Amino acid sequence: MKELLNRVLKNDLCSGCGMCSSLADDDAIRMRIGADGYRRPFLNAEYRDKPVADKATTETFGKSCPALNLDIRPYKTEHYHPIWGEVLEARKGYSTDAEIRRVGSSGGVISALAQYCLDRGLVDGVIQIQASDRDPLENVAVISRSRNNIIASSGSRYAPASPAEALKWVAMSTEKYLFIGKPCDVGAVRQLQAHNPRLKANIPYIVSFMCAGTPSLAGTHQVLEKLGVARDEVTAFRYRGDGWPGLTKATLKNGEEKTMTYNDSWGKVLNRHLQTRCKICPDGIGEFADIVCADGWEGDDKGYPSFEEREGNSLILIRSEVGRELFRNAEADGVVKSESFDTEGIFAIQPFQYYRRTTILPRLLAMKVLLLKTPSYKGFELGKGMRRIGLYQSFKAFTGLLVRRKKIKQRTLETA
Ligand SMILES: Cc1cc2nc3c(=O)[nH]c(=O)nc-3n(C[C@H](O)[C@H](O)[C@H](O)COP(=O)(O)OP(=O)(O)OC[C@H]3O[C@@H](n4cnc5c(N)ncnc54)[C@H](O)[C@@H]3O)c2cc1C
Repeated sequence: MKELLNRVLKNDLCSGCGMCSSLADDDAIRMRIGADGYRRPFLNAEYRDKPVADKATTETFGKSCPALNLDIRPYKTEHYHPIWGEVLEARKGYSTDAEIRRVGSSGGVISALAQYCLDRGLVDGVIQIQASDRDPLENVAVISRSRNNIIASSGSRYAPASPAEALKWVAMSTEKYLFIGKPCDVGAVRQLQAHNPRLKANIPYIVSFMCAGTPSLAGTHQVLEKLGVARDEVTAFRYRGDGWPGLTKATLKNGEEKTMTYNDSWGKVLNRHLQTRCKICPDGIGEFADIVCADGWEGDDKGYPSFEEREGNSLILIRSEVGRELFRNAEADGVVKSESFDTEGIFAIQPFQYYRRTTILPRLLAMKVLLLKTPSYKGFELGKGMRRIGLYQSFKAFTGLLVRRKKIKQRTLETA
């Protein structure tokens, strides 16, 4: 497993999901923020001269790690959309609980579904991430069992997070869980479930959100600099939510609040700090989830997403029968409210996802030109996407990745 981890790290392919740490023996692999501000696996020094996992576990890891493999084929049908994946239903909607809708990142649908699963006894806990109590700028994986904790976990955190670290607890448990994570986190869980019946039984629901990429913690530090705030003065930090999109807000020890718009924090700072794996991600759209949510932005005069402050609204893609049943029951019980949405309309709301999906092949080619290994992607129909975007944009994406060469961090497994 160390060898595979080194392959991932040498080619800067890690997404930081944390699945490897849950598979390795005891605490042989620990997820930590590295020098460049991304969460990465570190080796416990006690395992320097011994294996961190047996042969079977290593094989499973090789098949499930999203930095090595992503294979959507077992989860798609003949209705598969080459850009938006398997979509049983597309909807737009929101949580009917006013507090959850307000604190949620968009329409609070993910938190509403989490609360619903707990209330109806469908699960015993919700695996998700939230800001650490120890350091409000860092994220930790938690198992939520109460409304308070679901609300505390709501909202997007544009910084490294490793929810799949929690799989370690799941493997030892007889409880049932809902897992919430980014598409890469969810891909890791779904692929691991294919090799682990217990994990499949213990996690009956998987929910994700569309993801443009994980910024380094250095991005958050730069936002604080722009706000004129010292890191050690911060007692709480929200990237958005508390409205839609809501403000990026640092709460200070003296009670003062410093804010910045979402457009300024995400659009001008955080999105410039994305890790390499995100640049070549074919699945920013959460194809391995039962349900995936995204911002249901309204278009502005030019048809681009408008970030004008409104009541939260989510785009909801139902991807599996399990997801369909969960969502329908939640809606019938009045927990969420939604209306049908035309899949072809997603482009106007999510232009970035369209652009990245259709330019993955030239980016992968650029990685190969840089003599870097790339993950094996199967079943995503990336060629069809590339034909839609045409030669000029493909060339731009290819050269864009070559120019990024200096930001690609090739490293090896370090000891913690
Ligand atoms: C890094 C990142 C990139 C995103 N990119 C896009 C995009 O391109 N397009 C788009 O429409 N939406 C994007 N979003 C998602 C969007 O902001 C909303 O999360 C989504 O619309 C769901 O909203 P909600 O109100 O239903 O979620 P909420 O009810 O607020 O629930 C959000 C859930 O996500 C979990 N979560 C938050 N941050 C992370 C994280 N870093 N890692 C793992 N889990 C996390 C929380 O624990 C919570 O369970 C992104 C979010 C993140 C964190």
